[in-house]
Amino acid sequence: VLDHSTIDTTASELDDALIALRRDIHRWPELAGGERRTARLVVDHLRRAGLTVTTGVGGHGVVAVLAGADDGPTVAFRADMDAVEDHELFDGDFASQVPGVAHLCGHDLHTSIGVGVAHVLARHQDRLRGRVLFLFQPAEETLSGAAADMLRSDGPLARFVFVQSSQHVTGQHAELQVWVKAWPDERYPALPDEVSQLVAAAGGRVEFPTPPFPAMVCSPELSEAAAAYLRGTLGEDAVDVLRAAFPFNGEDFALFLQQVPGAMFYLGVANPATGMNGIPHSPDFAADERAIGTGVRAMAGFLASRLAARPSDSSGPCQLSIRFDIFGC
Ligand SMILES: [Zn+2]
Repeated sequence: VLDHSTIDTTASELDDALIALRRDIHRWPELAGGERRTARLVVDHLRRAGLTVTTGVGGHGVVAVLAGADDGPTVAFRADMDAVEDHELFDGDFASQVPGVAHLCGHDLHTSIGVGVAHVLARHQDRLRGRVLFLFQPAEETLSGAAADMLRSDGPLARFVFVQSSQHVTGQHAELQVWVKAWPDERYPALPDEVSQLVAAAGGRVEFPTPPFPAMVCSPELSEAAAAYLRGTLGEDAVDVLRAAFPFNGEDFALFLQQVPGAMFYLGVANPATGMNGIPHSPDFAADERAIGTGVRAMAGFLASRLAARPSDSSGPCQLSIRFDIFGC
C-alpha cells in the first residue's frame, strides 16, 4: 500500500514543476472546444510518466491509463481544461496572453493537479493494483458554471428548485434566459408546464431549447470514505463534507456519475492574507498555488487507498470517479 509519507515525498519533488505548468496553461488559455495546446501539454506529461494515452476524445479530451502491477479495481480522476470567455484583472508575469480569454475557473489548477497525480502514482506503479484512469475533459464551461451540486436525496434542499437568470431588455422587448434546476430528476417533467403557465399569465412566451441535464449526485459512501481518508492525512480541520451544496450549478460530471459512483471535491485555494480570493468566474480570481500540491497529495493518496481497499470496504462497486472544483474559502 502506498502510504502518505511516500506520496508526500514524491509530490514534494513535483511542486515547483506543477506550479510552472499551471502558469504556462494560465498564460495561454483556450476556450471550450479549442484546448489544443493545453491537451498537448497534458499528453506530453502523461507519456513521459509512462501512461497509455488516447487523444482527441470528445474534441481535445485526453484519456490516460496507469496500470498497476496486479489485478484490482479501476478508479478514475477527472479534470477539465477549458478557460472562460472574459478578461482577467491579473497582470502579473503569467497573465493571459489571449485577449478576452482567461482561466477564471481554476481549470488550469485542476489540470495541473491531474498531471501531478499521474506522475506521483506512476512513480509507484509497482505498489499499485488495478488501474487508474485519468480523464482530461474539454468544454466543461459551455455546459456549466463555476461550482457544482453536491446533493443528497435526504439533504435539506431536496426537492428544491433553483432558478438563476440573466436578462436582456431592448425597447419594448425583453428576453429572459433562465436556468431551471430540479432535484430530484423526477421533478423535472412537471417544471416546463409550471413555468409556461407562469410566463403565459404574465403575457409572455417561453421555449425550452435544450433537453434537461441530470442533477449531479455523489455517492454518500464514497464521499464519507474520502472525508475519512483526507482527515487522516491532511488533518481533522482540513476537510468539510458538503451536503446539498449551494450554489446549484450545472455540472457535466453528473454524466460520469450516472455511469459509476463517484464524488466531487472542492479544493480551497483562497488565502485572504495574500489577497487570493479564490472566487471562480470573478475577473480578479486568484489562487494560492500551494493548493496544487495539496490537491496532488490528497487525490494521489485517496485514489491509492481506493485501489488498496477490499471490495467489502465499500458498499458499492469499487469504481470511483473524482473531479475537482475550486472552492473559494
Ligand atoms: Zn467555470
